[in-house]
Amino acid sequence: MAKPDFTVKFWGARGSIPVSGPDFARYGGDSSCVEMRCGEHLLMFDAGSGLKRAGIEIEEKGLKRLDMFFSHCHWDHIFGIPFFMPFYRGSMKIRIWSGHLAGVMTTHEMISGIMKAPYFPIAPEIFIADVDYRDFKPGDVLTPHDGVTLRTGSLNHPNGAVGYRVEFQGKCACYITDTEHVPGKLDQNVLKLIDHADLVIYDAAFVEKEMQRYRGFGHSSWEEGVRLCRAAKARKLAIFHHSPLRTDSELDAIGKDAQAAFSGAFVARQGQVIEL
Ligand SMILES: [Zn+2]
Ligand SMILES: [Zn+2]
Repeated sequence: MAKPDFTVKFWGARGSIPVSGPDFARYGGDSSCVEMRCGEHLLMFDAGSGLKRAGIEIEEKGLKRLDMFFSHCHWDHIFGIPFFMPFYRGSMKIRIWSGHLAGVMTTHEMISGIMKAPYFPIAPEIFIADVDYRDFKPGDVLTPHDGVTLRTGSLNHPNGAVGYRVEFQGKCACYITDTEHVPGKLDQNVLKLIDHADLVIYDAAFVEKEMQRYRGFGHSSWEEGVRLCRAAKARKLAIFHHSPLRTDSELDAIGKDAQAAFSGAFVARQGQVIEL
């Protein structure tokens, strides 16, 4: 029997705010949303504006179950939630997991917090799907399904964020956004999560020469992504969480530089599918 597939799809690779227009046509303008398919199991990471189109595909394919994991709940990672059509279908079973606010706010409170008057007219109680809210602590190991293991760890970001390492069938993909590095000091939490990973999706909102200006914003650079992947002996690096200012041609240039430095590096593009 053939091994079940492990695929990763980028529904949105932009950070901070969605963008549109001719300068952003190729890499896409939707904000953070990444799907991982582990055989028949569907995992979604973050609910930025990219989640809207993911919902359309889930309905077209008739999928009925989904686990959704949050890095954190800054707007660009969560505002797709009310517009995700599977929440309004009685046939869907959806589990929502978060751990960045462990002990401060539950996952249910986090979702209720964004679907609340006067910022939004309806509350999540309107969802018709079977929605199960799960809470965990950074560092916990999650097994949403037999054979699918998620290792988690804290990232360095204002208000906290969680990075994930997903293991399935001997392969491993990591979702590491949003996070800021300390110059000259590789982040041990990140190194542990990405050790020998097949794919590392990494927050590279900035390039190294911009870092000085944006210290404290909670984001990193592709150069740091390369250093981390080299140290951890990871195979592929997906440059992710693109600045809303970064045009397609600028991202092309970044991709070239990054690939020259690390042959497994590439710039994540909305709609792109990676098979592990
Ligand atoms: Zn973000
Ligand atoms: Zn953030």
